[in-house]
Amino acid sequence: MRQGTGTALVTGANRGLGLEACRQLGRLGWRVWLTAPDSKEGQQACDWLRSEGLDIHFEPLDVASPESLSSLVERLEQRGVRLSALINNAGIAMEGFNAHVAECTVAVNFFGPLHVTERLLPLMEEHGRIVMVSSSLAELKDYPPAFQRRFDPPPPKEQLQAMLRSFIEDVRTGVYEERGWPGSAYRVSKLGLNALTRLLAQELKPRNQLVNAVLPGWVRTQMGGPHAARSIERGADIIVWAATLPPEGPTGGLFINRRPIPW
Ligand code: NAP
Repeated sequence: MRQGTGTALVTGANRGLGLEACRQLGRLGWRVWLTAPDSKEGQQACDWLRSEGLDIHFEPLDVASPESLSSLVERLEQRGVRLSALINNAGIAMEGFNAHVAECTVAVNFFGPLHVTERLLPLMEEHGRIVMVSSSLAELKDYPPAFQRRFDPPPPKEQLQAMLRSFIEDVRTGVYEERGWPGSAYRVSKLGLNALTRLLAQELKPRNQLVNAVLPGWVRTQMGGPHAARSIERGADIIVWAATLPPEGPTGGLFINRRPIPW
């Protein structure tokens, strides 16, 4: 069962899964704030969806920039925007592995959703839905039990953030392997995002906000590449599903194909 229409904000939506999520929500009759770091690309994507008659609006947002986030919040507040759904979709998977890659990846994929969610929370309606777009590369079953315990149960938010920062430092000083980290900043960033989802779901229960993480599968976007198994339309389905959950819907879960799976 879906919630009726509402207003959503989607990050990283000039292309890929974010753009498709905007389109699907628009077709359901939602008003959508399509955000992207590059104004020209974002506006073009927005104009394209508007030409289909959809109620889409563009705002620039680089999720890794506090200034960009602050000015977005200011503009939304000035317009009196209230959000029924926030989709933390923006993500990067960089080539190579070094401290720069670790820092950028964690900044966009972990701290981005954390800061965007914290700053947009005052604009969320009762029974809002917060969607974290995660990855199957962060499923805990694929990691040794001792490593799993770093994230399960999730440590308190401050400790989780400190752990992600120490990962970057361990990569910088060349000790990440002996400290037990995998050699992938993308994996670590999404492990952090999943733990954050669980913490936020607990924290926001009293405010009746639903917070879930979703796995789109391996999708034919710029990130997934042309040989990926899934179409963008299919990949975005789980994102839109989680953004349109009814008020009594689940919170604090990880979902693929509209079904819950273990963290
Ligand atoms: P994509 O085509 O590479 O699109 C990524 C989007 O994120 C782009 O719009 C990009 O903007 C934006 N972005 C990057 N850095 C940003 C920043 N600092 N602030 C705001 N936006 C930023 O990737 P995708 O496949 O659609 O991925 C969307 C999400 O799904 C990501 O979180 C990804 O980890 C996740 N995911 C994808 C797959 C897959 O197979 N494709 C699988 C599992 C999970 P620019 O165009 O300006 O760079």
